[in-house]
Amino acid sequence: MNAPSMFSASYHEARMRLLDAVHMLTARHSVLIDSRAIAVKGPSGETLALDWIMIGAREPRRAVVLSSGTHGAEGPVGSAVQLAVAQSVLPTLALPKDAAIILQHGNNPYGYAWSRRVNENNVDLNRNFGESFDPQKCNPGYEALLEAINPPDLDETRELARKAHMDQFVAEHGARAFQAALSEGQYKYPQGVQFGGQAQQASVRHLMALTREHLSATRQLAWLDYHTGLGVAGECELITGFTPDSRPYALANRLWPGQVKSATSGESLSAPLTGVMDLGLARALPPECDFAFAFPEFGTYPVEHVLQTLRLDNWLAHHGDRASPLGQQLVARMRETFSPGNPDWQTKVLGTGMGYARQAIDSLLQ
Ligand SMILES: [Zn+2]
Repeated sequence: MNAPSMFSASYHEARMRLLDAVHMLTARHSVLIDSRAIAVKGPSGETLALDWIMIGAREPRRAVVLSSGTHGAEGPVGSAVQLAVAQSVLPTLALPKDAAIILQHGNNPYGYAWSRRVNENNVDLNRNFGESFDPQKCNPGYEALLEAINPPDLDETRELARKAHMDQFVAEHGARAFQAALSEGQYKYPQGVQFGGQAQQASVRHLMALTREHLSATRQLAWLDYHTGLGVAGECELITGFTPDSRPYALANRLWPGQVKSATSGESLSAPLTGVMDLGLARALPPECDFAFAFPEFGTYPVEHVLQTLRLDNWLAHHGDRASPLGQQLVARMRETFSPGNPDWQTKVLGTGMGYARQAIDSLLQ
């Protein structure tokens, strides 16, 4: 398999290639495709949808879900894993009668198509899975750095002052507190980065409904939701939102031995987050289901570069002109930052991403 060829140039191309590959499987497997479109369209007017592609049992007792694009622009890696599984694993796989593999494509199809990490309402979907929304909720560090994090302009002198403000915050409170301020999720500033929303988003509703409807008989479930942008380039960390004393954490560490790290306890590169997907999905599953979940998180560029990219992307969305030369340059920067075009990077992350999928399939579905 030529790994870089599994990466597609756009959301639309990735979606079409995956659906084509899945159609080829229908001679061997039972295939069900349940697509839920959202209201907005892609850059070429194309439909944006979450595609639940279910291969095998209709009401599986055991299942493995591989999902992509929860953070839009981070979609290409998960999508490449899904295409590679459809083309090189499923054609020869013998699935037991009670088992299914689900390729869940484009959880945030708007962000994927428009190269943003957030959705059509500037919402970070992986902060939007909570049960209630408090529009006052915001990390005090975020409030203190509000303008530095969310610049209303790119004036050079003011940008230097903002950088100095952030450096001063790190010097006073430490890098970990800075990361928490930035990434924890905030519910107060709809035009700010890391906005978790003030209501449940359409994509979250769709994903919860798909899970509830198709996995109601499932008793053993492994779910991998692929992400990029945090950590050393090409390296991977398996992150969970569950605490180390929880049953899902133990189950995930049994499936991917010793590799899953909790964002809640400080053992992961990730800071503790609110409204995350795995805790939300757990509510949509039958209580008796053994649920092992992990976010494979692949490093791309140094954290300062990633942060600056997100600041610029947010500025562009609210204050800039996407069609201008600068706008186009920033869109390309978003794409490259969350899905590097380097073939060595692509080969490495696809290999690792496939490895985790195989581990789940081999231990749960054989
Ligand atoms: Zn992500």
